[in-house]
Formats: sequence, C-alpha cells, structure tokens
Amino acid sequence: MGLTGLEIYKHLPKKNCKECGQPTCLAFAMQIAAGKAGLDACPYVSDEAKELLESASAPPVALVKVGKGEKVLEIGHETVLFRHDKRFEHPCGLAILVEDTLSEDELKDRVEKINKLIFDRVGQLHSVNLVAIKGSSGEAATFAKAVATARAVTDMPFVLIGTPEQLASALETEGANNPLLYAATADNYEQMVELAKKYNVPLAVSAKGLDALADLVQKITSMGYKNLVLDPQPENIYEGLFYQTQIRRQAIKKLFRPFGYPTIAFVLDDNPYQAVLEASVYITKYAGIIVLNTVEPANILPLITLRLNIYTDPQKPIAVEPKVYEILNPGPDAPVFITTNFSLTYFCVAGDVEGARIPAYILPVDTDGTSVLTAWAAGKFTPEKIAQFLNESGIAEKVNHRKAILPGGVAVLSGKLQELSGWEILVGPRESSGINSFIKQRWNA
Ligand code: SF4
Repeated sequence: MGLTGLEIYKHLPKKNCKECGQPTCLAFAMQIAAGKAGLDACPYVSDEAKELLESASAPPVALVKVGKGEKVLEIGHETVLFRHDKRFEHPCGLAILVEDTLSEDELKDRVEKINKLIFDRVGQLHSVNLVAIKGSSGEAATFAKAVATARAVTDMPFVLIGTPEQLASALETEGANNPLLYAATADNYEQMVELAKKYNVPLAVSAKGLDALADLVQKITSMGYKNLVLDPQPENIYEGLFYQTQIRRQAIKKLFRPFGYPTIAFVLDDNPYQAVLEASVYITKYAGIIVLNTVEPANILPLITLRLNIYTDPQKPIAVEPKVYEILNPGPDAPVFITTNFSLTYFCVAGDVEGARIPAYILPVDTDGTSVLTAWAAGKFTPEKIAQFLNESGIAEKVNHRKAILPGGVAVLSGKLQELSGWEILVGPRESSGINSFIKQRWNA
C-alpha cells in the first residue's frame, strides 16, 4: 500500500512556492497520495526523497504501450473509478483473435477484414486496435510463420498468445514491433520474463483469481519487470466483472501495487449477442484490452460506439470545427443553416439535410461544443457571435443571396441577428427533423 499524504509531506521541500500547481506542499502531498499528481511536478525534491517516494508517486495504474508508431495502443494511467469523477484516460483496445492453424490465405483474409473494421462516428474514425495471434498449433515454426504472414498485411500491434517457445520464435522478427506477450503463468514466468526483458515488450500475467494473480505479479516485479498487463482468468462474466472491479478499486483506492497495471479480458463466446454483451461489460468496467473472436462489423460497431461514449472526456464535449460545411455540392442558391459546433447537434442537422437530399451549407458556430439551447442559455450562442461568424466564415462569397436559417429554439435571437449581420434571418424548425418540410414550404416558396 502507498504512503499517506502526511508521510509524503515529510519528504517535500516545504517551500509552498506553488510551482507544482498546488497551493501548498501539503496539498501536493495529498494529490500524490491520491495518485492524482506525479512527483516530477515539484522541481525542488531531493534525489534521496525522490527515491524514497518513487513508489508513492507512481500513477495508481501504470501506462503500458503495445505496438509502435501511429497505431501504438496506450492503456492504463487511470486515476478514477468513475468517469464522472474526472475522466477515463485511455480507451480500452479491441483485439481480434486469429489462430495459427488457419491456412495462409484464410489468415490473410481474416487480418484484411480486421484492417477494415473502421467506423465513422460523429466525424471521427474509430477502429479495432490489435490482432491477437494464438498459437493453437502448439508449434513454434507454424506460429512464427503465422505472425509473419499477418505482419505482411497489417500495421496493427499484436498480442502474441503461445508457449514460451512459440513466442521466442515469433519475436525474432516481431520483437521490434513491441507486441504484448501472453502470458506469464506460475509455471513459466521466469522464462517469460527473460523473453520480455530481452525484447523490452509488455507481458501479460495470468493466474486464477486475485490472490494467485497478486502473488505472481509480486514474483515478477521482484525480478525487475514492471511492463505488465493482468489477467485474473475469470470463469464467466460475473467473475470477470468482479475481478476487474476489484483490481481497479484496489489499485486506485488502496494503491495496491500488484494490481497497478491495466488488464486483459477474453470474450470468445460463439454466440455473437452474448459476446457483444460481455465485451460491453468489460468496456464499462475496466478492461485495458478485450480479445474478441469476430470480424463482423455488426458486432464491432456497437462496441466501438459504447467505447466512444464511455471514454469521451465528460469535461470536454465532442465538437466539430467551426467552418462552412458543404452538403451535396451546394450551389450559390443553396440554403444556409446556422447551428452550433456540438458534434451531435451538427451531425443531426447534417444527417437530416443530407437525408432530405437538400444541397446546403451548414455553419456550426463555435459554442465550445455545446448544443443550441445550452449554448444560448450560457451566453455562447449570441447574435453578436453568430453575426461575426456569418461575416467572417466566407459564406458570403459562396452564395448569391443573404438569407440564413436559425434554429427555431432560439427564434428570440433573430431580430438582433438580422440587424447586426445584414442577413435576412429565417426562423427554422425547432428540430432538425423538420428541415425537409421547412425547405419545401419556406425556402422554395
Ligand atoms: Fe512545495 Fe515543491 Fe509544490 Fe513548491 S513545487 S509548493 S516546494 S511541492
């Protein structure tokens, strides 16, 4: 268990200079004890104190990176149990299983399908993150060949699942790409740690239940290796939820170091509904990586959407860039819709405009990513701001009219906006679903 705030405070410089971002050294010590600040924020801590406090100031859940380059997956570094307490830092990685018993063509085909699991959600591209290659053949050469075959068709990070011999063989070519090795167990951990150390790659630690897992992690960390991912081997989803919750709770609330690592969970049920359901539980609480056995987009899309919802920073609404958006190649006569730059608001308007086959311009005013009525109530969607955007966005050069459509919910702004902007302001429907009939009745009239 970590040190208390007062114990940490004893070793701080007690200058109360605020350079760490906290009002006093004591406040800083409390933040460290809660795992919400790192010791390196104070420039005056002595080397002796640093060494002493290192374990207390380490984040409650370590950061682990799998893969390299643009597609590197970062997991861990979490500081809260509940998203609304602050935010979750790193979305869990979704891995898709591939077995080395597939033929070369089948394996390539499956990995290519995994490559294509990319979805556009509220203007952002989201995808699965890893390929999990399992050495079901039991043979080192077969496994190494499967890993090389998969690498030829994807740049995604790998989870390599096999015996130490299989992993050693695959690492000769794949070691430089920082794969996650699965897994060190009570029987093989010394061999696995040597392999992980040799290639400096993350290592999954797998043991049945929390006590056995904590024991095994302690044995491995005492060998000097801490680049770990935890697997408590649940028998079913109920046990999985319990283990995941306990691991996160012990790491964050008790600073119990053996559980201060991200986790991996396997969801391999043949029934796709059950698999999606179980994976949803793990996305919510608290898997770092979830291994699935499906390449069906219909199974992956709900998980990607849920992950996006859970891992969106609640303090920062998702926003689109405030600029002129062109829908269906609009011409100079096309209508101009004003809205706000909250992503959901913008995409509702854009979807309804596109669905009605209306070539149009949409101008999402910068309201810090808040919706129309919220922005209006907060003074972020004002006639002055909208008029400025109308006049500076460049829309005047694209159309041969000066008419813009304001959301019906803020009709009260129309008079002042018309006066300030010099544009004729039409009060549009309250909901974007009314855009089609509004255009037929009012724009084309
Ligand atoms: Fe104290 Fe260091 Fe923070 Fe200054 S920067 S207030 S010395 S903890």
